[in-house]
Amino acid sequence: MFKKILSSIFLSSVYTFAFDYNLKPVKVTNDVWCFLGKLDMPTKENGGFMSNSCYVKADKSYVLIDSGASYGFASQAYEAMSKIEKLPVSTVISTHSHDDHWLGNSFYKEKFNAKILGPSLINKEYNENTITRMHQVLSKEDFKGTKIIPVDDVVNETRTLKIGNKEITIIPTGVKAHTSEDLFVFIPSEKILFSGDVIMNGRVTSNRDGSVIGTLKAIDMIKEKDWNYLVAGHGLDTSKTAINDTVEYFSLLKQRVLEAIENDTSGTEITKVVTMDEFKDKPLYGELNSKNVYDAFRELEFYEED
Ligand SMILES: [Zn+2]
Repeated sequence: MFKKILSSIFLSSVYTFAFDYNLKPVKVTNDVWCFLGKLDMPTKENGGFMSNSCYVKADKSYVLIDSGASYGFASQAYEAMSKIEKLPVSTVISTHSHDDHWLGNSFYKEKFNAKILGPSLINKEYNENTITRMHQVLSKEDFKGTKIIPVDDVVNETRTLKIGNKEITIIPTGVKAHTSEDLFVFIPSEKILFSGDVIMNGRVTSNRDGSVIGTLKAIDMIKEKDWNYLVAGHGLDTSKTAINDTVEYFSLLKQRVLEAIENDTSGTEITKVVTMDEFKDKPLYGELNSKNVYDAFRELEFYEED
């Protein structure tokens, strides 16, 4: 009986206390700190913290690039940043429409009335009642407070914001790359570029809404910019080598799938013929690689090099 009571107390406490993300900001440049997510799918165990969320200090306020997967995550990220310097968050930039990158927006709107900039897809594909992937993964308790709110200011073309002492350029890729609308954020004074999910490192990418050809074009745009630091949408490498995994993956994927098509490989055989073995030991290979190969086949089946 006593045991039973104890275990029910234990269980109820598990469900009463919201997820503790135990967040530690990583200093990337003088004025940029990031929370770098797990190289995993979103799960109850990681609280959906598997994407990167960064704070840029712009003199008297912070500018945020991607806000994470829940209100709870965003509020704990802000708490951790407050220990470095307690500044309001004036602006939030969402790099793309996947929910792990922007469900924290409602925290910054509620607490600071932050201005939210992002792609139009967030407003087109979601409304306050949409059941997102995170709704299904996280418990009610861990998802508490999270609201779907629209982007205030849709970014369709390149623009430079002047906020405090920073010039921050937002650059739409203009091609379907990771999604049909991806934004880069570039801060020349810090020589840092935020690529959203066009770049991932240390894990296999997810190309479910993207394009092989478009991603390679977007990578060329990234290469043209003068950066020393690059923060990927997912991945811990923020150095000059941050793009290497993605460059290699998409170049090989394109080359091998086109070769297989040339050899009359069919859609049913493609994932057996193109296996991308170099990436076999990377996280999420099992979950995502075959689907990426199959989608690449569908995209490249009628492709002609221009
Ligand atoms: Zn994404």
